[in-house]
Amino acid sequence: MARVIDGTRMSREIRAELAQQVQELKQDGIVPGLTVVLVGSDPASEVYVRSKTRACEQLGMNGRTIHLPETVSRDELFGVIDGLNADPDVHGILVQLPIPAHLPYKSVLERIHPDKDVDGFHPLNNGLAFVGDPRGFIPATPAGIMEMLRREEVPTHGRHVVIVGRSLIVSKPLMSLLMAPGPNATVTLTHKYTPDLASHTRMADILVVAVGKPGLITPDMVKPGAVVIDVGTSRVAEDSERGYRIAGDVDCEGVSRVASAITPVPGGVGPMTITMLLANTVEAARRVRDGRPGTPVDGLTRE
Ligand code: NAP
Repeated sequence: MARVIDGTRMSREIRAELAQQVQELKQDGIVPGLTVVLVGSDPASEVYVRSKTRACEQLGMNGRTIHLPETVSRDELFGVIDGLNADPDVHGILVQLPIPAHLPYKSVLERIHPDKDVDGFHPLNNGLAFVGDPRGFIPATPAGIMEMLRREEVPTHGRHVVIVGRSLIVSKPLMSLLMAPGPNATVTLTHKYTPDLASHTRMADILVVAVGKPGLITPDMVKPGAVVIDVGTSRVAEDSERGYRIAGDVDCEGVSRVASAITPVPGGVGPMTITMLLANTVEAARRVRDGRPGTPVDGLTRE
């Protein structure tokens, strides 16, 4: 049976390291602060936001939520973001996605100052990550996957990584991190229009799945001995008090008989994502303390 890569245990270790850094910052008079902007009342988003702010508090950071009504206008939301950009006590800002359809989400993400964009979704941070410039912030989920592979000592050099999904939040930044000098992986990115998906996934030494379709990856789609990273997080209705369970994209039970290691859902990539968000916020605060230059915003045309 495949070894289970325990994201919860790994997160605990990293958070202990971060708590130490938070203490050092506090001794220098800085309390790292993350503000999450939540628009509307999507139940799943509310759960995610609570986990993020609670995790901040557990580390001794300031975790704050600004909850705006579903009907908030673009200009009102921009005003809130501008206020946070200017607030020296706020080191990290994130707008919880998805946001209501009447709001231009790309412009909203671009409104966050890149130095405080700890989600790493601003195009400037996307670009810096793509060219391997460490001044940017790497989105938390791909950063968490890279950290998992490193801590589990999964070799990537010369290995074939197949990523299912092509989102900007997970798959594209992960692709550029893995194929960069250092990790040196060969990466195949697949998506909804990739014919015969299984012919690609079966080639993977490391298979990363970020789709949101429970059961998409079955045992016959996995090469024996592969390492499988399941990013998918979907609510599946079940007859329980809560009424649902959280499921990944991989048939975990079946694939565990073929793979050498696998991340569970829940308890795999999810906790690592929150941990790397905290790490980015601590890094943003350290940059302020050290007076280190942030992201090169000069020359960017901003709305
Ligand atoms: P997304 O933006 O919706 O992207 C999903 C991708 O899957 C798209 O590129 C889509 O292809 C592709 N896809 C859809 N059906 C497919 C199929 N049958 N075969 C191959 N590819 C297919 O989603 P996301 O934001 O990347 O998130 C993906 C999943 O990961 C979701 O369940 C999300 O909740 C979860 N997630 C978890 C974490 C975590 O911390 N655990 C973090 C982020 C996301 P097209 O581009 O062609 O449509």
